[in-house]
Amino acid sequence: MPMGLAQLILSRKGFGHLPSVTFNSKPPLTDYSPSLSCALIYPESMAKLTVNDIEVNGKRVFVRVDYNVPMEEKDGEMVINDETRIKATIPTLDLLIEKGAKIILTAHLGRPKGERVPSMSLRPVAAKLSDIICRPVAFVDECIGETVENTVGQMQPGDIVLLENVRYHKEEEANDADFAESLAKVADVYVNDAFGAAHRAHASTAGVANIVKSRGGQSAAGLLMERELKFLGEELEEPARPFVVILGGAKVSDKIKVIDRLLEKADTILIGGAMAYTFKLAQGYTVGTSLVEKDKVNVAQQALDKASEKGVKFLLPTDNTVTESAKVDGKWTFKNERNNPDVNIPDGVEGVDIGPETAKTYSDECAAAKTVLWNGPMGIFEDPRFAVGTFAVADAVAGATKNGATSIIGGGDSVKAINKSGLGDQVTFMSTGGGASLEFLEGKELPGVAALSDQ
Ligand code: AMP
Repeated sequence: MPMGLAQLILSRKGFGHLPSVTFNSKPPLTDYSPSLSCALIYPESMAKLTVNDIEVNGKRVFVRVDYNVPMEEKDGEMVINDETRIKATIPTLDLLIEKGAKIILTAHLGRPKGERVPSMSLRPVAAKLSDIICRPVAFVDECIGETVENTVGQMQPGDIVLLENVRYHKEEEANDADFAESLAKVADVYVNDAFGAAHRAHASTAGVANIVKSRGGQSAAGLLMERELKFLGEELEEPARPFVVILGGAKVSDKIKVIDRLLEKADTILIGGAMAYTFKLAQGYTVGTSLVEKDKVNVAQQALDKASEKGVKFLLPTDNTVTESAKVDGKWTFKNERNNPDVNIPDGVEGVDIGPETAKTYSDECAAAKTVLWNGPMGIFEDPRFAVGTFAVADAVAGATKNGATSIIGGGDSVKAINKSGLGDQVTFMSTGGGASLEFLEGKELPGVAALSDQ
């Protein structure tokens, strides 16, 4: 991308102070064809407006995006480590540019808790977005007030402005009505493309959407949001069968509501990660020193009972990689890792991954699936010694996809794992939301979605 564009990032002074900035070059649109042309179905029958449906020519479109990207300081500057979330918004931005919108982007970064924390400024994101979209992106170092209003007042159709971290104001998370009104001053139309923040009723998610609607305007889902709701919602309502669910991660308590809901839909549920050990305890097996939630054994038992009532095949690991863990200099270290080829885990050792027999069984189940949903790693995959089971599952999910299955990766660590295994482009859909994906899979209404206009 030409260096010049990145340098065109504007300061707080707004467009008028930098007359050399031009916004009329029209780069080619990115290659993206949204898979949905119909209305969104949310939760089951309520159709929401999408950005495909709205008329925005010449209008100020206030777009909530998820630019909560990982950053680190290098030579005194904040550098973006992963631009996935920025790239994920490009289809919506391209469509809005094509439709002649004036695009005002708002987002949060980190948890500044109402303070102006310089390392959490969105300024580097404006530069990165400009690089990616090959257009100037103006940055305003506030998200409300006169500078924002003056800058927006000078925008032409197709222009893009990114506002400063909305969480520099504590009123954002409180969904303060006056603060939402201040944000909404520059909004004729509202678009929410921040699925990862949709489970929070904040001013920039629910507040502005409701204000725009109350004025008779439209609040719509962006294309990324539309895809998230399609794959995590619609696709799983009537899944192609067999529908295989793979669940892992640390705690039963985090995922029990998801398990409960999926027991209504799935043909097979495969359990890995530390949460498998709480289920094993419920079944009367020994788990050594593995991570368990003893107070959740009854909850695990209820899920097992429901599975047998509903005829859902509910599989637990039959073998595990185990280690002996010890604290050295205040840090947990693992030694003597080996396979424990028995369903019981002996005293003094800890299960840290599924074993090869389990990996084979789970892979075979995946191979037969027509729909696969995966959330949570099979072991402590951050340590390469205990990532084998997780990578085997990643492989199996990619293989099932190749054979025609729809595969959906439900956010968080499973997305990290599948990307780490280099198979990220071989699955049907990877969610960009962590907490939001889980809450949506639990069947909860997401405030950021509920606030959008109905079809
Ligand atoms: P979650 O956020 O619930 O999906 O949990 C992800 C975390 O679970 C990762 O950081 C894993 O290291 C951890 N995890 C997975 N399996 C185990 C295990 N057997 N023992 C301890 N932690 C685990």
